[in-house]
Amino acid sequence: MRHPRARAWKAAAGISAGGAALAGLRTATGRPLRSPPTLAAAGVGLAAGGFMVYEWLSPRSWLYGRVFWHARTPERVAALTFDDGPCHPYTEQLLEVLNREGVRATFFQIGNNVRREPDLAAEVASEHVVGNHTYDHPHLVWSRSGTVREELQRGQEAIHDATGTLPDLFRVPHGWYGPQVISTAEELGFRCVGWSVMAWDWGRTPTDVIQSRILHGLRPGGVSLLHDGQDTDAFPTADRSHTIAAVPDIIGSLKASGYRFLTLPELMDLDARTL
Ligand SMILES: [Zn+2]
Repeated sequence: MRHPRARAWKAAAGISAGGAALAGLRTATGRPLRSPPTLAAAGVGLAAGGFMVYEWLSPRSWLYGRVFWHARTPERVAALTFDDGPCHPYTEQLLEVLNREGVRATFFQIGNNVRREPDLAAEVASEHVVGNHTYDHPHLVWSRSGTVREELQRGQEAIHDATGTLPDLFRVPHGWYGPQVISTAEELGFRCVGWSVMAWDWGRTPTDVIQSRILHGLRPGGVSLLHDGQDTDAFPTADRSHTIAAVPDIIGSLKASGYRFLTLPELMDLDARTL
């Protein structure tokens, strides 16, 4: 099915090209470059083009298709999501924390890491929701649809072989959704997911900084992004100890301020009901 916003991005492209063309035409026909109409046409063209690029790179894309990144609700609910696993020993440690706190979360697993740690992937899937995070964790923003399709299908096979489940959630690696990524994922039956708050926790960020970024950035209906693993190549040297150490206090502080935790499908259902 064609996305209802298929016309919106074409309109933005038209405005961008039209503004630039008009400014160029006025300049070519001898009108001063700094005249208000020329500057206005150039400004509108640049703004529309900038908006298109922003939406191309955004984990909250609106223009090219639907990416779920928060629930529209005043209720104090949130979804914790963890990317790039499974990754020994951090995923096991995280499972212990979540189990102790009685919290279910959503894990976006990398197919290659699932192949490496199938039992751990299955353990995650037995308690939590698993989403597809591709097979090799590549940048897909400029990739052709065929590459996107292959990455998704290989990731799906790996997760299915290990866990017996077939995810219908997809989060693009690095958060950059191009329009062809969204449309290909939707053709394969996936719902695309972003996030509302993250902690930049892939660079050995101190535990207290991870905590404060999530706690200050999270709003009712929010989706947090943390990492229990790392890219496939760097897997053997991954260090997610700071993230794992941050999670108990994040959960404890949010519970103390009245939050409860939902999986992503539960949060999406809540959002749909709010509408
Ligand atoms: Zn990732």
